[in-house]
Amino acid sequence: MVDDDPSAAARVVAILRPLGHRVTVAHGWTEALRTFDPTNTDLVLMDAVMPNVDGLKLTRLLREQSQSYVPTVFLTGLSGAELREQCIDAGADDFLTKPVDPIELRVRLKAMLRIRALTKALEAKTQELERAARTDPLTGVGNRRVFDERLLAEIARTIRHGPPLALLMFDIDHFKEVNDRYGHVAGDRLLTLFGQVLSEQVRASDLPCRYGGEEFTVIAPETTAAQARVLAERVRRAFREGSAALDLGGAHTVSVGIAGTDLLEVELDRRALVLAADAALYRAKAGGRDRIEIGSTAPNAA
Ligand code: GH3
Ligand code: MG
Ligand code: MG
Repeated sequence: MVDDDPSAAARVVAILRPLGHRVTVAHGWTEALRTFDPTNTDLVLMDAVMPNVDGLKLTRLLREQSQSYVPTVFLTGLSGAELREQCIDAGADDFLTKPVDPIELRVRLKAMLRIRALTKALEAKTQELERAARTDPLTGVGNRRVFDERLLAEIARTIRHGPPLALLMFDIDHFKEVNDRYGHVAGDRLLTLFGQVLSEQVRASDLPCRYGGEEFTVIAPETTAAQARVLAERVRRAFREGSAALDLGGAHTVSVGIAGTDLLEVELDRRALVLAADAALYRAKAGGRDRIEIGSTAPNAA
């Protein structure tokens, strides 16, 4: 409840509290901006005309502060149709004429709170779907879509500002044998473990993703190839130890290919970086697996 007039505010509070609502009163716009908590507010009631800032402007400011849509009802002493239209244009959802009539207030409240509940449910669902659209459901790391988006963004950043960028590609060794010997459910468990290991070992600024099948990537911004090797080594070790505890015929291993923009010998773009990491991974496989290789050029440029 935002109103510079304490008696008008008290009147509204006296109607709302007996209905079981928690009400926070702000007597001015700075207080309103300071106390407004969009995650914990279901409705804003606001005097449309206050000193220093009017309700129209304050509504805009409050809306800018919140991700969630909190309905706003204006209280106005004036009943001109033009002002009412201004209220709606400014972001108000409804308005009441002062002095506030208790029944009118209750009716608006019911309608607004219903809209608020529906909107909140929708916002939660959208968030959940957005998360799901970016996550690999089996392993919990980012999916291919996130990988593609983020890689392009990080490459653009590196080209503009020049910090090193590393791309790590992981491929579980002899993974097909796990499926063939122990079944796909067991194979899935090993993939899940790898996703966990990856998530645990990377920094918050790194992005672990599942590239496809038993192949994973990490995009590591502001990281040189040599620094990426340290990360890869940690992952390799943690996966070996974790997999040994899974009852899938002993420890399992992973091969890693790294490309770092600090070592790249060809012009940086998405293709060049992925090819360089891929070529390094191929060398790790050919060299006997369970190892880390660093690539500087794509195979066709070598
Ligand atoms: P290498 O050491 O050369 O990497 O051999 P590999 O057996 O790991 O490689 P290969 O590419 O021959 O086999 C990958 C297998 O991964 C084949 C495919 O059936 C399996 N796979 C891909 N996605 C999934 C999944 O989601 N779950 C399970 N259980 N298996 C998967
Ligand atoms: Mg593979
Ligand atoms: Mg493999």
